[in-house]
Amino acid sequence: MDKIDIFLSRPTWIEEKFKEGLDNFYKILKSLQINPRTIGKSDYPIDSPLDEVISLMNKCCGLIVLGYPQIKIHKGFVKDVRIKNTVELPTEWNHIETSLAYVRKLPILLIHHERVRRGVFDRGAVSKFLYEIDFTKSDWPLDDNIHGALNNWRTKALQYYKETVSKKNKIIEYKDKIPYDFVTIGTFKTGGTATDIRSKIILKENIQPSIDIFLERIDISPPYCLKCSRNLSKVHASWMADGIHIGYDCKKCGVEYKGNKKELRYDVLSDIRKNYQSYYKEYKRKIDEIINNMS
Ligand SMILES: [Zn+2]
Repeated sequence: MDKIDIFLSRPTWIEEKFKEGLDNFYKILKSLQINPRTIGKSDYPIDSPLDEVISLMNKCCGLIVLGYPQIKIHKGFVKDVRIKNTVELPTEWNHIETSLAYVRKLPILLIHHERVRRGVFDRGAVSKFLYEIDFTKSDWPLDDNIHGALNNWRTKALQYYKETVSKKNKIIEYKDKIPYDFVTIGTFKTGGTATDIRSKIILKENIQPSIDIFLERIDISPPYCLKCSRNLSKVHASWMADGIHIGYDCKKCGVEYKGNKKELRYDVLSDIRKNYQSYYKEYKRKIDEIINNMS
């Protein structure tokens, strides 16, 4: 059986009294063929931590959140109510990572130490897979409730894994079936002339590429007249200037573009650079359309 990657949301630092129980939890995961990944533990950030979390989350088929006390408040207020018992709070990353997984519809299992409260650990906030247990007990991972929940959650994670893997395989299959390599993502218009902008289709891509990579994939149509739709004819400089290509025009409507092919491409790429998000959005929309039509 394949080993599946899952995101384990836990703080890097925990109190000594929790360590044995956590080690046992790792052993159980290993026996279930689950590979837990955590930023700062199994994976180390190069970009901003949040970017790294998102990138790692995209590779995972499920999320387990362990709520360990990180902040303890003995005296103070919650809103205007003076606290009576110590308030124990988990790491903020537990909340951030749970939200990201929730949006991706990953199966989520939340387990927290007694008295850890607020955010995703408030009953009803995220899912019914929320368990409270004494993390100081070394055998907490063997607790009947936890074990049952873990198995339940694992079934869902495996399901997620199968679906995404089969989707990836399908995309590879589709690649041979698409009759064209480019999609139109917009039209560059200036002075009554227009040029269609097309982008090369890249199906196996989970995250938005850098703008420079995206620009390399751009192809532009010959310029045409916005009024009569005819392709523009090339305008050359006079024989005294060696007849070099200096522009395009529509003889019928009188519209013109001042610049050669290279200058036109430069203008188009500058426009994409300025409005990258909206061009990329249109590209993504077209790609999703292709995939939906084929599945
Ligand atoms: Zn025209």
